[in-house]
Amino acid sequence: MKQKEINSSRMPVYRDAGFELFNAELTAEAFRKETENNREPDNYIYSRYRNPTVVSAEEEIMKLEGCDWALLTQSGMSAIDTALSVFQNGKESRPWLFFSEIYGGSISFVESILKKRRGLDIHYFMPADGEYDLKKLEVMVSSLKPELIYIESVSNPMLIVTDVPSVVKIAKKHGCRVILDNTFATPFLYKPLNDGVDLVIHSVTKYFSGHGNISAGVICGNNDMLMRSAVEYRKFVGHMLSPDDAYRLETQIKTFKLRFKSQCENASALAELLNSHPAVERVWYPGMKGHATHSIAKKLFSGKGYGGMITFDLKGKGKTEKGKKRDRFISHVSEHIKLIPTLGDPHTILMPVESVWGAKYPEPGMIRLSIGFEEYSDILDTITMALNKL
Ligand code: PLP
Repeated sequence: MKQKEINSSRMPVYRDAGFELFNAELTAEAFRKETENNREPDNYIYSRYRNPTVVSAEEEIMKLEGCDWALLTQSGMSAIDTALSVFQNGKESRPWLFFSEIYGGSISFVESILKKRRGLDIHYFMPADGEYDLKKLEVMVSSLKPELIYIESVSNPMLIVTDVPSVVKIAKKHGCRVILDNTFATPFLYKPLNDGVDLVIHSVTKYFSGHGNISAGVICGNNDMLMRSAVEYRKFVGHMLSPDDAYRLETQIKTFKLRFKSQCENASALAELLNSHPAVERVWYPGMKGHATHSIAKKLFSGKGYGGMITFDLKGKGKTEKGKKRDRFISHVSEHIKLIPTLGDPHTILMPVESVWGAKYPEPGMIRLSIGFEEYSDILDTITMALNKL
């Protein structure tokens, strides 16, 4: 069949591994221009380099983050790898500084890949009493002189909100770059590039795709040179997202704001309920006045919400009783709230903190909830019933 234009309103899925280049002259031109590493090429060559369906989905993310470019990858981890690679200069590399309260997989990547295999000089900055002391950060940065600082806008599972503008100020003063994982806050609450962050990454697997059925990541930025470097790394390492996933993402991301708004509202209401329930020892939610970083969250998120994640600890006499109560709670809610190790799904899901974080958070009564966008009364009824039974 001869190719013809179809009057579809959507970008189709282009599954071509390689694209037709017709003659030697066009081939030479396409390959010459490919080395410029622009986000969108004049002529597509090979889907590992660039793919039109992926480019189209990237444009949806650019609108959300309000940025000049976005590059999709096949997981959040590959987005992190790509973003970090931009600042890796072989033997010239200066130390890198990571905030310690970041996603556990990112810590494992730092330890097993960046330190052990690539021999990078990595340091951690730890919080005290649930928040980061930025005076201590300034002292550390001025003596270490790191190439980059790696942070998350909202940490996991204690939901520590980072004072990003202050971190950026310290970083810029000492000539270092900032990479920020914005998965938990999302651009609905906060757009870090506006505060001078150099690169923003997301696990698109979470709120952007929002249905627990796509693994993807994205790197967002405004600086053209950083984009070219990231495009080159994605191409050579092969971190490109598949066109099928890009197509599904482009469809699902159109409802992101509606979904996330509702998840924030449900979470705010539920955090209050948990906080007042006699079976609950403590609740961590940045929207609550008692949270160590509530005032930072208030400033950063400008009242738009406080996210869809809640962590809480069940009451109990000692660790054994707390562990038993946790198991009973999980079993009581299991019909409606499943134990699934991800977040940002349509339905509320949970994770037992100690089973995942082990010695870092050895509290058997602690549970992390990822609140969904189902009817609030469904979540309320399920949680109240399970807590009352304890
Ligand atoms: N960043 C954060 C904050 C995460 O929670 C995760 C995964 O849970 C990742 C990055 C990694 O994303 P992915 O699982 O899509 O590779």
